Formats: sequence, structure tokens, C-alpha cells
Amino acid sequence: MEFIKKLEVWFVVGSQHLYGEKALQQVEQNAKEITKYLNSKNLFVNIKLKPVSITSEDILALCRAANNQENCVGLIAWMHTFSPAKMWIGGLSQLTKPLLQFHTQFNKNIPWNEIDMDYMNLHQTAHGDREFGFLGARLRLPRTIVVGHWQQTECYQKIDRWMRVITAIYDQQNLKIARFGDNMRHVAVTEGDKVEAQIKFGYSVDGFGVYQLVDEINSIDNDKITQLVQEYKKIYQLADSLTQEGEARTQLIEGARIELGLKAFLDKGGFKAFTDTFENLHGMNQLPGLAVQRLMEQGYGFGGEGDWKTAALVRAVKVMGFGLNNGSSFMEDYTYDLDEDNEVVLGAHMLEVCPSIANSKQNIHLDVKPLSIGGKADPVRLIFDSKAGSAINATIVDVGERFRMIVADLESVNTPHNMPNLPVGHVFWKLKPNFDIGTQAWILAGGAHHSAFSLDIDADMLRTFAEFFEIEFIHINENTKISELKNELLWNEAAYKFK
Ligand code: MN
Repeated sequence: MEFIKKLEVWFVVGSQHLYGEKALQQVEQNAKEITKYLNSKNLFVNIKLKPVSITSEDILALCRAANNQENCVGLIAWMHTFSPAKMWIGGLSQLTKPLLQFHTQFNKNIPWNEIDMDYMNLHQTAHGDREFGFLGARLRLPRTIVVGHWQQTECYQKIDRWMRVITAIYDQQNLKIARFGDNMRHVAVTEGDKVEAQIKFGYSVDGFGVYQLVDEINSIDNDKITQLVQEYKKIYQLADSLTQEGEARTQLIEGARIELGLKAFLDKGGFKAFTDTFENLHGMNQLPGLAVQRLMEQGYGFGGEGDWKTAALVRAVKVMGFGLNNGSSFMEDYTYDLDEDNEVVLGAHMLEVCPSIANSKQNIHLDVKPLSIGGKADPVRLIFDSKAGSAINATIVDVGERFRMIVADLESVNTPHNMPNLPVGHVFWKLKPNFDIGTQAWILAGGAHHSAFSLDIDADMLRTFAEFFEIEFIHINENTKISELKNELLWNEAAYKFK
């Protein structure tokens, strides 16, 4: 995620000539102070202050420059004074970058004894930002509005989370996804319109024959494999069969070879996400499990069985959550425990669950077990329990003439019982508002069995993401009612006819 360091968000402050030069200097001075303060909080992206915008020409030039500046990922706009919004029509009509309206005021409190007309002329956010807000509404601009004094922790935390989202937007627009083999045969939800996806999100999905990956895997140097196996030994609890003398040691060596080959293939081609399928592994010794788990932990997006939409979404969530502590993973609703009123979902995949969600880094087991499908040798994989806490599952499905994102709020819970034979990393969650409604809602909306699971990202962040790309957004949460959701889905059908 080195690329994040070079990104910037532009801080754009609006005013006008009406108040005189002295007032404009004060506006600039105050904007400098806010920029300095926000940058001192080590937000996700560095903020760069732009000259105060006071004419239509300034604003148009600034928006065009933002569009063309590769490392500018978004704009924060703040109206210190009134800034007549007709001046913003030209610029905002052309703006292609995400926009946040920071509805703040330089002074936290009114200076009760000193307040006079000069003060009132200068501190006009309360109405200046409403004029600006009207134009955003009039132009139907997707935008995020943060309200409150700029020194409040909550304000800059919201800005930080927005920055994470817009960085993921920037990343999606530049993302290349490698697809080894095609879709799992006959499966519907993992399919979709790749051309439309590239038009909407900007990412490209390119297919490769597995032999091309196999060539890369077979060219890996043995010394590098030995080194990587040593690294595994340091980090993970190795099963007896995988130790130096163990009977499945070869499988671990093959696992390391696959990891190095896969990473080399992806990095050479600039791919930050990928898919594979167990039906198409010709020339490979085993389905990549350990390799995929470790690459996801490094930030690569992944989708099983050719699921490129989920691979892109897992990548987005990985970018949004970079540097946070709880983790994100490719996920699948696997099996249930249906104790009445205490139903839990066991989320996992055949192999590919990211160890970033593990509840203890010291307690990750590296083992080899049969897969029972695919006809290959037993794959190596990491096995662990996950953290508890608030979480989400997100999916994007292609419903024909549009993409729909569905996000479900979850409560990740501790693993309720020992499962000595469970061969995969996994997580348990409870649905909101309850198992019955949460499950009905997901199925009604057409949510996939695959998802991007995250303990770091919330539904609001994904809503911002969906709004920018102008895709449908359905949020299943504590307040979801099936009758209302059915209406929402029906009305959305009508709404998208007019888009
Ligand atoms: Mn699957």
C-alpha cells in the first residue's frame, strides 16, 4: 500500500471579493491553521491547502486541475464566508473527484462581548455552506458532509474514514484483476458484465490460462522456497506432518512455491486482485490456500471460483482498512448452527480466509488436509479462530442493468465450541436485526454466497463508495423490516429506470 503515501486531498476554501482584502487574508490564515491541525492528526491522506477561491474562473481552473492531478484523490470544500454558488457551477459540473463538504466554523464559540458586523461578515459558514450545499443538491453531486468544529475528534475521524473510502475509489479506478481460469461452471452470482464494471468502477478483469501461472510457479528458485518455509515455521504452529521429517513436507514446499509464483505473476503484471477456481488447476499440485491467505493479508483482493466482483470488493475493503487492527477477508456463508433464538453463521471458505481477522497471531495453525473436490493433492492452509466485534458483510451483484451493493451489519462472536476437525480459518457471526430477518433480507436482495467481510469497515463507508460509483445500495441493519425492504427494492427498480 505504498501508493497511499503519495496521495493528497485538496482543501478548497470558498469566499468572494465583497469583504475586502483584509478579510480574505484572514480566511487564508484560518484555512492554513485548520490544514496544519488536520495534518498533525496523521489522517489517512495528507491535506494540501489551495489558494482561496473567489471567482468562477479560479474555481473552474481548480476543479480541472484536480481532475488532471493524478495523485489528488478528492476535495474538501469549506465556505468560510458566503461564496455565491453560481460561481461554483462551472467547476463542480466538471469535477470528477470525490467531494467532502466540511461544514465547520473557524471559531468554536461566539465572542459574546466583541461580536460585531466585521465578525459576522467573516464567520458565515452557517449560511455560506448552505448556499454551497444547495448547488451540490441541484447538480445531484454525490458528496459527504461532515458537520462540527474542526478540532473535534469526531470530525477529523469522519474525514479520515472518508479518505479511506476515496483512496479505495482511486484504487478501484486503477485496479487490474487477474483471473486464472474462468467462472466455476454453472454458477450464476459470480458472473456479471465485465465491460459495465470497467465503465462503472474503472477496474479491468483479464483472464489467463492456468499454464501461464504454472510457468511462473515452476520458475521459482529453490533457495527462495527454503527461505519462505523457514518464515512459515517462525510465524505459524506447524502440524507434525509439515515439519522437516513430516510425511506431508512436500506439500508445504509446493505451497511455498505456489505463493512465490503467484505473487511474482501478480506483481509483474501490476495485479492487485485475482481469482482462481478449483475446476481449473491443470499443472498445479494443489489449490492455492496458504498462498491466497497470505496474499490477502498483504492487501491483494481475492474471489474464489472466478468471482472477480468480490475480488475487487475485497481489495477495496483492504485499502479502506489499511493500518487498522481487526482485519478483512474474502468470505462465504458456509453453514449454520440453528439453535432457536441463538442462531449463528459459520463463515469460512474451502481454504481462503485471511489471517488478518485471526484472534491471536500466535495461535495460527499451518496444516494440510484433504479438500475432497478438485482432484488435486491436499492443500496447505492456515487454521484459526476470528476476533469478536462489530462487522459487516458486503457483496456486489449484477442484477441486469445495474450493480447492487448489499451490506449487512453483523456481530462477530467468539467460536462457541471447539471444532478439532474443522480444517479452515473461520468466523462466527450473528445477523441484524435477527437471524430470520437478516437472512431473508440478504436473500431477497440477491446477495451472493460470497462476500467481503470486515471488522474494520462500516456500512456508511461502503455507502459513500456506492454513491460515488452510482450503484444501488441496500443496507441490512438493526432497523430492517422486510415489508419496507420489499418496497425499497421495488422503488429502486423504478428509480434506476430514470438514471
Ligand atoms: Mn465459494
